[in-house]
Parts: sequence; structure tokens; C-alpha cells
Amino acid sequence: MRIGSVEIQPLFDGYGREQAGEIISRFNFPDAWRCHPESFGHDGHWEFPVGGFLIRTGERIIVLDTGVGPMDDGSYKGGGLIAQLASFGVRPTDVTDVLFSHLHFDHIGWASRDARPVFPNATYRVHERDWRHFMDGEAKSAVGTELLSPIQNQLELFTADFEIAPHVSTRFSPGHTPGSTVFVIASEQQRAILLGDIVHSTVQLSEPDWTVIWDVDPLAASRVRNDIADDAEKTGDLLVAAHFPKMQFGRVLRVEGIRKFVAL
Ligand SMILES: [Zn+2]
Ligand SMILES: [Zn+2]
Repeated sequence: MRIGSVEIQPLFDGYGREQAGEIISRFNFPDAWRCHPESFGHDGHWEFPVGGFLIRTGERIIVLDTGVGPMDDGSYKGGGLIAQLASFGVRPTDVTDVLFSHLHFDHIGWASRDARPVFPNATYRVHERDWRHFMDGEAKSAVGTELLSPIQNQLELFTADFEIAPHVSTRFSPGHTPGSTVFVIASEQQRAILLGDIVHSTVQLSEPDWTVIWDVDPLAASRVRNDIADDAEKTGDLLVAAHFPKMQFGRVLRVEGIRKFVAL
């Protein structure tokens, strides 16, 4: 995908599998997912990609989110991201920046390996609030500490929105996690928004009051998600997220009065 002068490629790392009924809810509507058999089948089986994106802009080679890494716990299986990078001619040593939309385990899998950063020459960047939440706060975990401690010498935390690289800007979007950040690519009158986990299922763009159990602050997450979706409907901005089917870019359109994600 090209947005003006910026090149963006999805990096598949693997897959996650969940039961929609355990993850997705709508207040007062049990099993709301049943209205969307096209996305969840009749048994609620929900399979989605995990991974990240390669962004090339000017001299910078950026990896946004790093999948689950080499693992298989029956629900999540990963390990393909470095091979995907190689297929685009990029070695880990070439990467100048690693950005995290947030620090859930399925986005930090390739942060480090065997206690060393996977991307030795990169600056790793994440919002300061997520770093605190996952390293010192209530979401502190053994897995997070193991994967993130080795990157500390290459880490730059941010607290305000800024242009992180030419044509790539951060937009602080808390709710899913305290430091969740969306990345806006804008070049030559084209825009794409890389959503992180602001949206998990594209169905959430049609169902404004769905929540997922992973949203730390469901009200804030819902506000952010619906603001971005309404905005994208007006502007025609492209949207994409790691957990979207096939990691496909698409647009928000209104079809027969219903807001809808339509993949390109
Ligand atoms: Zn998440
Ligand atoms: Zn995720």
C-alpha cells in the first residue's frame, strides 16, 4: 500500500483464536455477535491475524507492532514476522524505529529474544502511560517484563503527539489501554490511520456500542473508536489494524444507513 511517498506493508506474524461470545459484548444484548455470522460463523469462532506493519518513509524503516513472536499456546500462534520482513528485503539490523500502538502481549512478541533486542539499531517508542501501566502498574506481567526489559537502553517514551518520522504522526487515543496510540500517515493528500487495537473486529465499525473485554476503559475506548469511525466516514481516510481480516486496508462508508467497513 502506498500513501503518497510512504510505503506500508502488513507483517503477518500468525493468528489468534477466540470465542466471540467470551470477548465481545453489548449491554443488554446477550450474544450480540450472533447477528454477524459472516464474521464469526454460527459457533462464534473468531480467528484473526496478529502482526504489525512495515512503514518506509524517507530514510526511515519502521516496524509498527511486532505480533506475538514465536509461540503456540493453542489460542495464539506466531513467529512469521521476521521472515515477512525479509520478504520485503528488510533485515532486523536495518530497522530504524520500532513503534508500539500499545503493550499487550500480541503486539510485543518480537521486541526482544533471549534477553536481547531483536532490532539492535532501532529506537523503540511507546507512550509513557502504557510503559508505566505494563511495567510498574496493574498490567505488570512476567511476559511483559521479560520481553520489554531488554529494550530499555533503546527506548524513547513520548507524552505528547508529534511527527515521529516524515509523514507519520502519533494520535494519543487512550481507552483500550492507558497509552494506546493511533498512527496517522499523511502524504500527498492521502491519509491512512493505523488503529492498533482501537478496533479489534471490523464489525465494531458497524456496531457502535460493542465492547471487548480487553478494553481497559470501555467508555473511553468506545468514544475514541466511534470518533475515528465517524471522522473516517467523512474524510475517506483509509483504516487498517493488525487484527482486521487479512490485515486489509479499507474505508468506512454508509451503506443503507449503516456505517460499514469496506475492504479495498
Ligand atoms: Zn490490545
Ligand atoms: Zn491485539
